[in-house]
Amino acid sequence: MVSNSAIKILVLDDEPFMLRLLARMLANLEFTAVTTCDSGRAALELIDSPDSRPDLILLDINMPEMDGIEFVRHLVGHHYSGALILVSGENERVLQSVGKLVRAHKITWLGHLSKPVTPEQLAALIEKWAPPSQGAIRAAKKVYSANELGAAIANGELVNYYQPKVALATGEVIGVETLVRWRHPKDGMIFPDQFIGIAEQHGLIDALTHAVLSGALAQARIWQDAGLTLRVAVNLSMDNLVSLDFLDSVVELTAQAGVPPQDIVLEVTESRLMHDQRVPLEILARLHLKRFRLSIDDFGTGNSSLAQLRDIPFSELKIDQSFVHGAWANDTLRAMFDASLGLAKQLGMEAVAEGVEDQADWDFLRQQGCDLAQGYFIAKAMPAEDLPAWLVVWETRRPEVNPTNTRPGAN
Ligand code: C2E
Ligand code: MG
Ligand code: MG
Repeated sequence: MVSNSAIKILVLDDEPFMLRLLARMLANLEFTAVTTCDSGRAALELIDSPDSRPDLILLDINMPEMDGIEFVRHLVGHHYSGALILVSGENERVLQSVGKLVRAHKITWLGHLSKPVTPEQLAALIEKWAPPSQGAIRAAKKVYSANELGAAIANGELVNYYQPKVALATGEVIGVETLVRWRHPKDGMIFPDQFIGIAEQHGLIDALTHAVLSGALAQARIWQDAGLTLRVAVNLSMDNLVSLDFLDSVVELTAQAGVPPQDIVLEVTESRLMHDQRVPLEILARLHLKRFRLSIDDFGTGNSSLAQLRDIPFSELKIDQSFVHGAWANDTLRAMFDASLGLAKQLGMEAVAEGVEDQADWDFLRQQGCDLAQGYFIAKAMPAEDLPAWLVVWETRRPEVNPTNTRPGAN
């Protein structure tokens, strides 16, 4: 535990009154290493000197000379590695977008304080401050070569993890999403953001999807034989949808596994625009005809989501996690969430909320009438062999998360 007096805090605001007020609140909270500044320039000088370099900056966004947004940009140039709290009279949307910018610059953003600031709010935010740990200064993520990845696919180093999708109304487990991981012999578990892009760029994505889908189908069959009815979702890349051979291999693999196509969900993201839409459209339309369930993933984040919805017969819409977690407390997120959900309903699609992280998210989704939920609140992705034990635990949690006699969201 670091004592409050050891945390160096810099308060930057153009109003002398605010500086005095915040300094006094901090003193009352027993923060003694506090410096105040009324201009960005002076603050940057402090940041440059190792002795006065702060651990935490309380930053006003509206300042006449150098405003808070410009100051954030300079912080990056001055290699600031501490944390930041925004203090402002601006509305929530402005604060959110500055917060986004701060995080995009990899500065630790503890949150924002709206004026008038209360000591309780201030204390709660500073509580989140943690000294930079060894883990946080981890080396940059390793970049793998196409050869390494190709060999890993061939050697069976990719493993499927499965994350449950549950019905909000009842808590029933409806299915799982297959999420691939690379069990690297030396580097440990590698997550898909570190290798899907490489697979797409180097012509390995068909081999990868084939490996993941085969594993998922074999697993679906095992669950089916054990009397567990689960829809199994697999992620497809747009790059899979460029040749009709891919369609044939999906149909064939599914038939070989003896799994009904209606139990297979194919999740499609549009991470980039397709130049020629004809082949992907044909493949998806035919998969639909063959009774596979199509799902539009990360809805709301792409470039032409609405056009895709118009053209492709999706049966499921996954509302991106960036519109889900915390939507109950944020008007902007909530509006986007509600719009996406409304669209799914009007088009007769099942709506899945991704990124459900706590009970408050869950209660909100129930209240809004969302169909399915997926997220850490329910379970993280797990190896297939862990699922039976998780199902037992989930059964005991079901009544807790879904009290039947209370109105969702009440209490
Ligand atoms: P996705 O399909 O949108 O999958 C959801 C991601 O969100 C997963 O990350 C999951 O672990 C994570 N997640 C789940 N619940 C929560 C939550 O409550 N909070 C937060 N913050 N995150 C949550 P993961 O496994 O790292 O996968 C990342 C992306 O990689 C996936 O996003 C998907 O687009 C892609 N991917 C995964 N497996 C495959 C695959 O087999 N093929 C292809 N083409 N892409 C895949
Ligand atoms: Mg997905
Ligand atoms: Mg998603």
